[in-house]
Amino acid sequence: MSEAEVVKGLRGVLERIQIACQRRALELPKIQPRLVAVSKTKPKELIIAAYEAGHRNFGENYVQELVDKSHDSEILERCKDIKWHYIGHLQRNKVNKVVAVPGIFLVETVDSDKLATTLDTAWAKQVEHKGRLKVMLQVNTSAEEEKNGCPPESAVELAKHIRERCNNLELVGLMTIGKFGYDLSQGPNPDFICLKKVRDSVCDALGLDCSALELSMGMSDDFEHAIEMGSTNVRVGSSIFGHRTKK
Ligand SMILES: *Cc1c(COP(=O)(O)O)cnc(C)c1O
Repeated sequence: MSEAEVVKGLRGVLERIQIACQRRALELPKIQPRLVAVSKTKPKELIIAAYEAGHRNFGENYVQELVDKSHDSEILERCKDIKWHYIGHLQRNKVNKVVAVPGIFLVETVDSDKLATTLDTAWAKQVEHKGRLKVMLQVNTSAEEEKNGCPPESAVELAKHIRERCNNLELVGLMTIGKFGYDLSQGPNPDFICLKKVRDSVCDALGLDCSALELSMGMSDDFEHAIEMGSTNVRVGSSIFGHRTKK
């Protein structure tokens, strides 16, 4: 992919997001979903091209790759307002690297009390950061064993743990990856239905308005459908940056 193709891909996805928004049910909040451009495995030149075309939110799911890209001198110089989303599985021994990322905006994959506590403590030690670290709860909505995320029935407890015990974290939403290759002709994606239900029960239990928690769901193959179902944060890689070769 060339820089020009990436900018074109980005514009195309933004346009499709707009159109999908118009198909949303009326009761869904009218906010414009955030597009996270998932740049994993892709070179920094393409990130810079998307940034210079006006894009700000980027997602990475390997810690070392996020560390390398976020500390790259050219990215630091040319992408001063970049917002990094960490969207991969996070091991507790890598937390210190993630909280030290310049421009870290949101960790979408908190899935246990222990990980939340480790992030909370690590963030408190980062004197250069202002405010709390935004996090999302990753929920394993498809109950596939190889998938990360907390089981749907543990989400309320984990959300309470973050809200009550982790003063340096701000719980902003829930995230799911969902089953790969779901056939939409079978009806609305059950992972998205499940995440919405989990969000409702968390909001009920914590006494929050539902609009207080975001839904991060939808990738290249299904982001329009996810938006129609209420997604506020879509994570799109290959439709912007082209296909990835496996690591
Ligand atoms: C890679 C990845 C994406 C983007 O996938 P595409 O199908 O390329 O859009 C989204 N979310 C997560 C968690 C990912 O790891």
